[in-house]
Amino acid sequence: MSFFVSRRSVIQICGVGLLSAFTLWSLAAYADEYLSGKVWPQPVVVTPGDAPGAPPSDAIVLFDGKDLSQWHDAEGWKVADGVATVRDKTIRSKREFGDCQIHLEWAAPSKVSGHGQERGNSGLHIQGKYEVQILDSYKNETYPDGSAAAIYKQRPPLVNATRKPGQWQTYDIIFTAPRFKKDGTLKSPGYVTVLHNGVLVQNHTELEGETAWHKAPEYIAHPLRMPMTLQNHGNPVRYRNIWVRELPMPEENSRQG
Ligand code: MG
Repeated sequence: MSFFVSRRSVIQICGVGLLSAFTLWSLAAYADEYLSGKVWPQPVVVTPGDAPGAPPSDAIVLFDGKDLSQWHDAEGWKVADGVATVRDKTIRSKREFGDCQIHLEWAAPSKVSGHGQERGNSGLHIQGKYEVQILDSYKNETYPDGSAAAIYKQRPPLVNATRKPGQWQTYDIIFTAPRFKKDGTLKSPGYVTVLHNGVLVQNHTELEGETAWHKAPEYIAHPLRMPMTLQNHGNPVRYRNIWVRELPMPEENSRQG
């Protein structure tokens, strides 16, 4: 019995010793904490939307289901039951955007007609120049860099995450605008990240220039902020819940400050 007690005491003493050593080591570690020296402001509070996809408190809503008053050339589009349907013309946002986060929801027509590029075709042209393709790519083969969520004629999506025709689909996009020098040459390219129905399909893809059907990509200098467009490609693609969050642009801060 006495041997057992004695052994327990030894264990206890060793335990206390180990604990003390660990405490001292922890204090030494904290004394060596890395500090960047930068003084950051507290992040601005943004209240997220109530439901997935709903606009957060700092979003600029471009279509909330009521009207297309935030868009030019939308007179011919049909707005009913919270949904805007493509007709007549390509529409252009009244506001201009640079670096931004974009959320939009779209649906290809339930009634399938045509194939390839003629089936459920529309498109989001960021800054009116860089198209993230909108197409019914559900069991509808076309050239890969022309399918849904492709950067048109530049980069296919990493995977095809398209839902069935008629079903609602989401794009969540992070866009970095290209920058141009005063002489009109490119200073830094644009970048696009796209999640299609929550699936990453463009991962910080570098834009090679404007997206066009009939010519190779090329950058043509333009202002930092430009309107976005939703394409009329002759198919009654539907839209709902479109909003944008503007992201900080250092050159505008320096201009203000
Ligand atoms: Mg298109």
